[in-house]
Formats: sequence, C-alpha cells, structure tokens
Amino acid sequence: MKLLELRIKGFKSFVKNTTLNLDANVVSIVGPNGSGKSNIVDAIRWLLGEQSSKQMRIEEKFDVIFSGTEKLPPAKKAEVFIKIEDDEGRIRTLGKILSADGKIQYKIDNRNVRLKDLIEVMGGAGVGKSFYSIIGQDQVKELIAAPSELLRALIEDAAGIKVYLDKKEIALRMLEQTKENLERLNDILYEVE
Ligand code: ATP
Repeated sequence: MKLLELRIKGFKSFVKNTTLNLDANVVSIVGPNGSGKSNIVDAIRWLLGEQSSKQMRIEEKFDVIFSGTEKLPPAKKAEVFIKIEDDEGRIRTLGKILSADGKIQYKIDNRNVRLKDLIEVMGGAGVGKSFYSIIGQDQVKELIAAPSELLRALIEDAAGIKVYLDKKEIALRMLEQTKENLERLNDILYEVE
C-alpha cells in the first residue's frame, strides 16, 4: 500500500486547502515548532477513526476544526482526504468531513460510506487505526514493552489479516446463532410429532 497524497482543509492549523504530495520518497517532514507537523499525522489518525482525545491532542471532537485567528474566521468544517494505492494497484481516495453542526461524513471515492467501510479498505491495505500504524513519540516505549499477544495482533493487523479475522469472528457468531435456531426448531418439531 502506498500513501500517495494527503489533502487537509479546515483541520487544526490547516485553514487553507493544503495538499501534500507523498508520491516521492518522503522520509521526513521538517518545520519549526508549532508549524503543524504533528497535525499532519493527527489528520491521518483522525481519518482512520481515532477516538482517543489524548491521541488526537484535543479536549472535544470539534477542536479539530480550525478555530480561527484575529484575521481569519473559524472554519465551518474540517476535511481530510488521502489518496492511496493498494497492493493490487487500485487508486482510492478516502475522506472524512466534520461540520461545525456535528455532521460527520466518511467517503470512499466520493461515495458516502460508513467508518467501518473505510477501515476495511485501510485494513486490507495493511493500515489500521491501531497505534502501530502511526507510532507517536510517547508510544515507542509502550510498543517495546508490549506483551507477545498484543505484538501478534499488531503484526496481524499490519499484514492485513485482521480484516479477515474479524469477518471470520462474525461468521462464527452467525453460525453459532444458526445452530441454536436449528436446535430450537428441532425441539418444536419433536413436540409437534
Ligand atoms: P512541535 O515541533 O513543537 O512538536 P509541530 O510542528 O508538530 O510542533 P503541531 O503540534 O502540529 O506542531 O501544531 C501545533 C499548532 O497547531 C499550534 O500552534 C496550535 O495552536 C495549532 N492548532 C491546533 N489545533 C488548532 C485548531 N483547531 N485551530 C487552529 N490552530 C490549531
């Protein structure tokens, strides 16, 4: 999976439409303190459905919307779009928009989708919302000390297996439910006979 492009508008300090072309071999983003380097990473985390205020470095969900300056009014919405190329070479654009009135939209190639669909595309491409995809400064220690079960889960997620494990889990639950229904049906049949 390749992250080709990131487009941010109205998100944290990025008031104007800002496009980062990541197609080249970008290995680092440099800039003065407070210039918005971490906000770039926050934008990707946010798009992937990060729910933790601590991880997002906000107090409440609307804090991601550009809050305005003396010269500029606050933004009406925060938008983050990423363009990815998956392992099969398909190019897809994924997006998230939060309006100041609380409306949230998730997009895949301009279609409105659920967060679940978006995570599935990213999960299949080997990028989950779990913390290993994006490792923050304070998470390196946590990762080194992680128990083996967690490390295994992280590797499975990174390898794109987790999507299938989740689907398997759902299928097994449905199978269990169907078995119970069948047993109940057999009981009724027994009584009728
Ligand atoms: P450092 O090198 O110090 O870690 P950085 O380049 O990573 O800094 P960020 O933490 O990404 O910088 O950006 C911080 C800036 O983003 C601050 O100036 C903060 O005021 C601004 N900011 C955060 N949220 C908003 C918002 N909702 N509206 C406007 N500005 C915001």
